[in-house]
Amino acid sequence: MSVRSTAADLPVVVIGAGPSGLAAAAHLHSRNVDVIVLESGPCAGAAVREWGHVRLFSSWSELVDPVAADLLQTLGWTAPNPKGYPTGADWADAYLQPLAGALGDVVLYGHAVTAVTKQSRDRLVSSGRDEAPFTVRVQTSAGEKVIFARGVIDATGTWGTPNPLGGDGVPAIGEIEHANQISYRIPNFRDEDVRARYVGRHVVVAGTGASAKGALIALTALAQEAPGTRVSWIVRRSNVGEAFAGSGQDELPQRGALGQEAKAAVDAGPVATISGFRTASVTSDANGALDVTSFDGRSITGVDEIIALTGFRPDLDFLSELRLDLDPILQAPRALAPLIDPNEHSCGTVYPHGAKELAQPEVGFFAVGMKSYGRATSFLALTGFEQTRSVAASLAGDHEAAARVELTLPDTGVCGGAGAFDDESAEGGACCAPASAPEFVTLGGLTTR
Ligand SMILES: Cc1cc2nc3c(=O)[nH]c(=O)nc-3n(C[C@H](O)[C@H](O)[C@H](O)COP(=O)(O)OP(=O)(O)OC[C@H]3O[C@@H](n4cnc5c(N)ncnc54)[C@H](O)[C@@H]3O)c2cc1C
Repeated sequence: MSVRSTAADLPVVVIGAGPSGLAAAAHLHSRNVDVIVLESGPCAGAAVREWGHVRLFSSWSELVDPVAADLLQTLGWTAPNPKGYPTGADWADAYLQPLAGALGDVVLYGHAVTAVTKQSRDRLVSSGRDEAPFTVRVQTSAGEKVIFARGVIDATGTWGTPNPLGGDGVPAIGEIEHANQISYRIPNFRDEDVRARYVGRHVVVAGTGASAKGALIALTALAQEAPGTRVSWIVRRSNVGEAFAGSGQDELPQRGALGQEAKAAVDAGPVATISGFRTASVTSDANGALDVTSFDGRSITGVDEIIALTGFRPDLDFLSELRLDLDPILQAPRALAPLIDPNEHSCGTVYPHGAKELAQPEVGFFAVGMKSYGRATSFLALTGFEQTRSVAASLAGDHEAAARVELTLPDTGVCGGAGAFDDESAEGGACCAPASAPEFVTLGGLTTR
């Protein structure tokens, strides 16, 4: 391993070849900053492909970074219809993989980052810290290696670290033991093997986000085909109606429609709703059926399968030797947290932000994309594109461009974030009022609002 003492001539390392990481690489490329993208999976958008069966609630106009589009168009790429709504698989096939191809051999697959540190300095050592290169430890099929970097953009998302079912944030008693009967991601109910797993069964669904709503709709449809399929929907909130509040005002129409369709499924379908339920344990009876018990002693018995869609959290383990300043609740950058905190914003309106809010005490390190939101749920790809524009400008030394805001985000109208579930009065704050007239923003030839 060569030892480097200065960072200036080194590349910026982007970790993760998802929508945010690839956008960051495209912005750096456009500014002639050397970049290497390290992706643990075998292809671009590896996490997106794992939910490739899900149709996005955003249209193509909101899913393509403008600078990435410019790069692709120089290579003859045909932009998808901006009004179309792709699946995750479409997003990866028609945009992410071509973008990675356009970036070329700087995108390295099968490169899982296991640690980011400052060269020869643990968290305690201050001397020469800001000038020292980052060392990025990588696991590949050929063994371990170290890559030196002058800046690091962590765009690893949160898909790899779903929240457990346990109501206190750690796996419920017995949860790990019964993991073969628990899914932590929305199943692909169009797959015959997956359908066979749930058809005619008693399924517990936990969570109130878009994935949980999708699961309730799919299971209700399954129950119409195969009577005997039944669903117990457990929610932590005491008022389940909040899970659907705001659907009618959502500026993203497909997301609003999802909420309304889920409400119809719950009203009409074979769904028993159990509110105020925080899971304490998962045990099994002699026949292998599960009992799911709450902290206040209520039990759901005879359960065949659990679908736990209770959100995601950031993996901070591989960053443990860096100096990070994170909000103690959300685990998002401290300056960003007030803008996205569901306890402060009872709906998901998020102001565009960039390098200033994402900066860390570890100079040159930024988390962007889904990862930057920590445990908050309101992330949109558009937000990530604006983040990466600003962060790339900052790393290129263009502080005027880094400070500019070039994006207006849609309002969501979706009220009562996860953190508000204990607050009986949290029935929608002021930001749930109908949004002011939307402004238009142009994304690389695709116009959106
Ligand atoms: C089901 C679902 C539907 C969504 N629908 C929408 C929508 O309609 N509109 C919208 O705007 N947003 C939507 N989102 C939110 C968001 O835009 C997506 O999650 C998006 O994929 C986030 O992009 P990202 O690049 O930040 O993270 P990811 O897409 O998760 O990409 C992270 C990448 O990092 C890689 N990685 C992880 N750990 C490591 C490591 N240690 N070393 C190297 N590589 C690593 C992963 O393999 C992955 O390729 C949706 C999210 C989900 C889950």
